[in-house]
Amino acid sequence: MEPVSTHQPTPELHLFDRLPDGLATVPVEQLGSILPGPSLVRIAGQPGPPLFISVLLHGNETTGFLAMQRIISAYGAPQKLLPRPVLLFVGNVAAAEKGLRKLDSQADYNRIWQGDHHPEHLLAERVLEEARKAAPLCGIDLHNNTGKNPHYGCVNRLDRASLSLARRFSRIIVWFTEPHEVLAVAMSEICPTVTLECGVSGDLTGTSHVENYLRHCLELPEETLFTPPPNHLNDLYHTTARLIVPEGREVGFGRCAGSADLCLREDLESLNFEPVPAGTELGRYAGAAPALRVIDNLSRDVTGRYLSFTENRIVTTVPFIPSMFTLDTKIIRQDCLGYVMENYRGKDEISSESEG
Ligand SMILES: [Zn+2]
Repeated sequence: MEPVSTHQPTPELHLFDRLPDGLATVPVEQLGSILPGPSLVRIAGQPGPPLFISVLLHGNETTGFLAMQRIISAYGAPQKLLPRPVLLFVGNVAAAEKGLRKLDSQADYNRIWQGDHHPEHLLAERVLEEARKAAPLCGIDLHNNTGKNPHYGCVNRLDRASLSLARRFSRIIVWFTEPHEVLAVAMSEICPTVTLECGVSGDLTGTSHVENYLRHCLELPEETLFTPPPNHLNDLYHTTARLIVPEGREVGFGRCAGSADLCLREDLESLNFEPVPAGTELGRYAGAAPALRVIDNLSRDVTGRYLSFTENRIVTTVPFIPSMFTLDTKIIRQDCLGYVMENYRGKDEISSESEG
């Protein structure tokens, strides 16, 4: 195996003052022929503040990029003006060409927006600097997930504009504060921002859903866009912890071969966004417990609060609602197995118009 250098050069941010030719039609695998790397592209629109839209922070999550290509073609940009200008950040071009979340030598492009552990942090700073200058109307970060999940919108602040942006995409809204190194947390200091989880990458229904959503954001008056529909808090969830597999543990699903330290139920993804009662078996483990850890928003190990490990069975000890459970072992290693959520019932706090 090649040794991985710990001193990667900082990726440069490429600025485009107009839409480069061919961006609307280039296949993702050839994106590097149009954009030499992470790029911020201005797409001209009618006078007014732009939408900040980010795609491909994770290279294998193509729905946002494909929806933007459709938008560019449908509105005839750049020959014709969009109803609003767009500041489009195309993130991990190198990984996108290979169909990967990230290259092994890279930081995760959605974990570089706070702190300074990675060379890519400087790239993030440059993007935020340009975003601040542009004073966008709102920010929209487009993602896919690997597990079976509904489409949903995430917010990092509970103000009416952010909640409205999320609710216009889906009935289901997730409020999270961790991981705090994501783009949306940084952008929500600048303007109302949502992260949209658009189902599995490559699913055309997801592309159409995002395309329609972006049309609304381009065309609706600001006041309408930022006014949540009635009952918008009915399906608001709060992410309280995440489940991780300790390093070096082998994960399997269903009937596992002998080598797996952790053997999870194969229908794990069907639990996403479903209330899971206490006493539910998530899987089995071999060797010493815990084979699965639960980490809360303050990075504390709270495994004992959620899971019990007895007779090689992993069983939930309190009711909770999981999200983003995935069977993709690479994602489990690079990110996590999934998140623990609870229904958020802080309606009184929210209805008193919080600051934007
Ligand atoms: Zn993503």
